[in-house]
Amino acid sequence: MSCLFCKIAAGEIPARIVYEDADCLAFADISPQAPTHMLVIPREHIQSLEQAAAEHAPLLGALMSAAATVARQAGLAKGYRVVLNTGAEGGQTVDHLHLHVLGGRAMHWPPG
Ligand code: 5GP
Ligand code: ZN
Repeated sequence: MSCLFCKIAAGEIPARIVYEDADCLAFADISPQAPTHMLVIPREHIQSLEQAAAEHAPLLGALMSAAATVARQAGLAKGYRVVLNTGAEGGQTVDHLHLHVLGGRAMHWPPG
């Protein structure tokens, strides 16, 4: 198993875990781009949104729900941004599907 986020899910690489349930895990990003920057991942290895199948729809919903819980726990009552980079041009650098939860400052649009 060479996947970084699978290793974090397995406890082989340390991370500041802020939320977990049977299907999902959330932890602090190592290089935060906002005062709050968490990553929400499925425990199951799925390379990217492009590799997610129709059968993964409930899991994708669980990830979104976990992202909202993480944001709520972090006190992001004024708002936050959820980002899902997909593939090289989408800015994905770790090939294990993940949601970014960013907050604690005003976000800009359009994103870079
Ligand atoms: P992507 O660019 O694929 O959308 O996001 C990958 C994210 O993983 C980046 O924001 C990066 O800072 C984060 N990251 C990379 N390596 C590690 C690590 O070892 N631990 C943690 N907690 N985050 C990481
Ligand atoms: Zn993985």
